[in-house]
Amino acid sequence: MINSDRLADLFVALCEIDGPSRHEGRVARFVESLIFEELSPVEFIEDDSASKTGSECGNLIIRFDGGLAGSPIFFNAHLDTVEPASGVRVQRKGDTFFSRGRTVLGADDRSGIAILVEVIRALRDHNIPFRPVDLIFTTCEEVGLLGAKALDPDLIRGRFGYSLDSTGVDRVVVGAPSANNIRVEISGVSAHSGLNPEEGISAIVIASKAISNMVLGRIDEETTANIGIISGGTATNIVPDHVTVQGEVRSHSEEKLEANTREIESKFLNALNSVTLSPGKGHLPPKVIFCSDRQFPAFRLSESEETLVLVQRAASVLSRDIEFVVAGGGSDANIFNGYGLSTAIISTGMTKVHTTDEFIHLHDMARTSELIFTILTS
Ligand SMILES: [Zn+2]
Repeated sequence: MINSDRLADLFVALCEIDGPSRHEGRVARFVESLIFEELSPVEFIEDDSASKTGSECGNLIIRFDGGLAGSPIFFNAHLDTVEPASGVRVQRKGDTFFSRGRTVLGADDRSGIAILVEVIRALRDHNIPFRPVDLIFTTCEEVGLLGAKALDPDLIRGRFGYSLDSTGVDRVVVGAPSANNIRVEISGVSAHSGLNPEEGISAIVIASKAISNMVLGRIDEETTANIGIISGGTATNIVPDHVTVQGEVRSHSEEKLEANTREIESKFLNALNSVTLSPGKGHLPPKVIFCSDRQFPAFRLSESEETLVLVQRAASVLSRDIEFVVAGGGSDANIFNGYGLSTAIISTGMTKVHTTDEFIHLHDMARTSELIFTILTS
């Protein structure tokens, strides 16, 4: 039923519309006109999230009723891509799509959009009844899941569904960690490093002492931590009085997430206490301001949930083995699950995402389309 050539054409067309985060407007308009011209949705909603996300457009919620009874479900993909994404031109070699090398391809997540549209096209072509379904195309996924965070979950009819946004084939992500963002402002005391260094307190030294005492990387099977950005200092002959350090902790366990975040905070406070706290006259003492906030909540689906039962049943109809995995990334699915909407992530075949070597095989997109088609019709 799936028309691979049409899927390929749509995928290429979508990839070649520039749409980095916050500049998804042209992709949204393209999807809107295609859906209105061909697919007779029951409703097409563009929400008012643009004012919160800073995007050119809102999230799109597109409702279809295919004539089959049953509770509505939803599928999600994101409209934006990571950079570099300016002037994407798709190269095709046999069954495989690449970029020309100076940009990403954008299969993350245009493959998800192309697959969902192809499935509805195929269902309409053959007049095949299907479940009530909402397609939810979000903005600004790649810059902090902003579209999903700004979405009103009451706009979604289904109580469970699927994100199409993962590498691999016949692979379903059933769990992902929560994450805390960390931002630390360290204030020292500036002084000339040649004339009066004894009057200075280096913010860089405080940061270094703190970081060198941290356990980072993979902390245990459920938990990771990273310091990703350090910025500060103004000149080689000035004792630096300010440094900003940014990082994150992720864990599948809320307790470990909090414990490791507090552990990192304590390293900064200990480092602060290890330096002289009384600078020369007229200077404020050094200080550390530690801020952490939640990037996204964790989720873990059980195999008895309808979400996984339905995808497993569709795989059986297709005589396919699918793999349930727990992943380390955060995506829109974390936010949907946080809304109480059970959401699994289905792989689309996208490979080497977020690099200019990104590629995808048409065969894998078609295979995923068949799985979605079967979920909607069985
Ligand atoms: Zn993605």
